[in-house]
This record gives sequence, structure tokens and C-alpha cells, in this order.
Amino acid sequence: MKVAVLGAGVVGCATAYMLATKGHEVTVIDRRDKPGMETSFANGGLMTPSDASPWNSPSTLRQIGRSLFGKSSTLKINPSAIPSIVGWGLKFLANSTCERHKASMISNIRTAKVSLEVLRSIREVASLNYDQRTCGTMRVFPRGGRMSEFAQMCREMQQWGVQYELLDQDRILEKEPCLAAVIDRYVGAVFFPDDESGDAHKFTIEIARLATELGTHFLMNTNILKIVKASRSRISHISTSRGDVSADVYVLSLGSYSPILARPLNLLLPIIPVKGYSVTVTLNGWKGGPTRPVMDDGYHAMMVPMGDRLRMGGRAEFAGYDTSVNEEEGKRVLSDILKIVPALSSHINADAALNWSGLRPMTPSGPPLVGPTRYANLFLNTGHGPLGWTMACGSAKQISDLIAQAQA
Ligand SMILES: Cc1cc2nc3c(=O)[nH]c(=O)nc-3n(C[C@H](O)[C@H](O)[C@H](O)COP(=O)(O)OP(=O)(O)OC[C@H]3O[C@@H](n4cnc5c(N)ncnc54)[C@H](O)[C@@H]3O)c2cc1C
Repeated sequence: MKVAVLGAGVVGCATAYMLATKGHEVTVIDRRDKPGMETSFANGGLMTPSDASPWNSPSTLRQIGRSLFGKSSTLKINPSAIPSIVGWGLKFLANSTCERHKASMISNIRTAKVSLEVLRSIREVASLNYDQRTCGTMRVFPRGGRMSEFAQMCREMQQWGVQYELLDQDRILEKEPCLAAVIDRYVGAVFFPDDESGDAHKFTIEIARLATELGTHFLMNTNILKIVKASRSRISHISTSRGDVSADVYVLSLGSYSPILARPLNLLLPIIPVKGYSVTVTLNGWKGGPTRPVMDDGYHAMMVPMGDRLRMGGRAEFAGYDTSVNEEEGKRVLSDILKIVPALSSHINADAALNWSGLRPMTPSGPPLVGPTRYANLFLNTGHGPLGWTMACGSAKQISDLIAQAQA
């Protein structure tokens, strides 16, 4: 069967690969010259089923509420974005009840765990190099923070297969000696042994290479203009800047841009862009930094080692489709990390840091939209929010299985 995948981010490329393994003739269409050049480019790199709790948990909402008005806010709302997020925001709040939040968390955990299984099985049959680390992640909690509340959530997640371990100061230092200078700040940590990490962009390129080896065709530098319908229940073709593309089945994986292309079909996808920043520095061979991803729950900061680089990230911002890079934000992220690992400052060139921003395609409930539409030959695999890299291989498997069932 001919399948056209719209979008060559980490989600589209993983989808193309899974479809190609099932023997389909796949074409991927994207406006960029290479796969993974938008939100999948310099994200946090965390492959973390442990992070499956959607942002609308009652405790996160309290944190967001406090931080909106604080100086070191973790979430910013650009006033110009308010009109476009009101409806979505109400749905976000409606999904924040304990019951709904739990259902969304379980759904995310399931997809993320399938994702890890799929990823590990791909690594068994193919050599992949994406600066991966498979030694877990650690979240450290300052005194007076929310460690006991978080540990309670971990107990809940454990029922769904997320393993964790509580660490005291000695055990934190055993795992991450680089925290020695600030260890007295921490009351403890939670370690997640099954989490992984890696460069999502490198992975996207790698999985696209594997898909190509299976016959997938990448139509790059091609702007998708319109998804053209044949009737009220079928898509006829895709109109692009380089002509029409026809297939038997279409998969929409355009990240934050999915709702824009879906709207003329009367498909109102509840996805909005939520901007995020990352900063990446070269370590110049220095080995004294973290050996695995470390998240500081007090500064809302994370640092993720990737080969000879360290990637750092911080806050989220509702700013519409604006992807401009804010140098001040980059400096803020780096200065928080230097408070945690002061020795880092003498090994990096802060002026040469890569400051980047991207748009998380967020749904109001948390889980992505993976499934059929009212058009029998149009499927969705989009809206992965802050967990697109974590869930890409899992949702790619889900959608390729669904397509196989629908066409059987
Ligand atoms: C700062 C930050 C940190 C993050 N950290 C993590 C993390 O640690 N772990 C994690 O799991 N997730 C993380 N995420 C989320 C993750 O990056 C996203 O969920 C994921 O990249 C989304 O992938 P995608 O393929 O759906 O979208 P994209 O990567 O945005 O891909 C969409 C593709 O569609 C193409 N496209 C769009 N419109 C058109 C058009 N009209 N014509 C042709 N092509 C088009 C684009 O060029 C793009 O290649 C983070 C996100 C941000 C912003």
C-alpha cells in the first residue's frame, strides 16, 4: 500500500520506519532540507516514561499558578497569545481533575514504555548512533520542595511499570559526584533506572536512514499547501509546492502545524504550540559533569549529557508560533545550571553556546492524537507535547498497527 507521511520530525520519521518494516511504499513530505529540523532539532533529549504525568496535574497547576506571578517563572504567557489559547486553556483545566489526569498519565506511560521496547528492539537489529545513554535519569529536590508529593506520584506510576528508587545525599553523590559542591541544598532525589536519553535530531536522521534503506522516499524542501478531499469521507491527494502527491493512506505528523492543515477539512485538532528553549555547550573533553540527565526540581532546570556536549533546558512559554531565540533566556538557563555545577564554567565557552527554541505540539489532556479521522484514509499521529521523542517509536507502532487493521 502507498502511504504518505506528512512531516519528517521524529514522529513522522519513526512512523515512516514502522510502516516501511510492514512492507508499505512510504513517502515522507517535509518543507525542510533534512529530517528533524524543527521541534525535534534540539529538544531536551530525555526518553523518559517517568515524565509521563501531563502538565495539568493538580500539583503542577499549583506550581504553574505560583510561577506565573514569580520572578523566576517556569511558564510565561505572552499577552498576544491569550486569545488563541483561551478555548484550549479551558479544556486543559477540564482535564486536570484527579481522575482525568490519572487516565492521561497511564496512557502516556503505556505509549512511552512501548516506545522504549520498540527502540531497544531497533537497536538490536541496527547500529544506531545518537549519543544515547541508557543509565537512567535523576531528579533532585531542594529542601522545602515537593519531594514527598513527587514520591507519592512515583508510587502511583510504579503500578503502571515505572520503576524508581529514592536516594539520600550519599547515594546522589555516588551516582553524580558533580553535585558535591551543592549537595547540602538537596533533601534527596528520585532515580529512574529505565529512562534513557539521546540527541533526538541525530535519532531522527538515523531512523530516516533506516526507513530509506527499506525503500522510503523523502520528499524534502516541499511545502504542504493543502490536504485535498475527494468526498466527505476520503482524501484525494496532497497539494504541495512541488506538485500533487497521491497515496492510499495519509498520516498527519506536522507537529504544531497539524491543526493548520487539518482545519480546512473541518478537523479541529486541539493542539497549540508551547515554546521551549534549550542551550547546548561543548564540554571540550571535560568529564567532570553529569554522567546521566539530572533535573533540578527547584530551579526547574535540566542538564543532559550528549556525547561531548551538555544540553540544558528551562521554561515554557505560550507565544503562538513565534520561534525567535531569546538570548536572555539562554543566559538564564545556563546561569541556573552553573549554580548546580559551578565547575562547568571553566570548561565551556558560553559565548559559543547553541541557543535554540522549539514549539511543543500540546494537547489539553496530555496524550497525543493517534488514530483515525472521519476521512477513512487519513490518520493522525501528532500532538506529542513535551514527550514527542519519548513517545515517537511507541505511537509510530500504534498508528502502523491501526492502519494495518483498518486496511485488513
Ligand atoms: C525545549 C523543548 C524540550 C523538549 N524536550 C523533550 C524531551 O526531553 N523529551 C521528549 O520526549 N520531548 C521533548 N520535547 C518535545 C518534542 O521535541 C516534540 O514533542 C517532538 O519533537 C515533536 O515531534 P513532531 O515530529 O511531532 O514535530 P516536529 O519535529 O516539529 O516535526 C514536524 C515537521 O513538520 C514539518 N512541517 C510543518 N508544516 C509543514 C508544511 N506546511 N509543509 C511541509 N512540512 C511541514 C516541519 O518541517 C517538521 O519537520 C521538547 C520540546 C521542546 C520545545
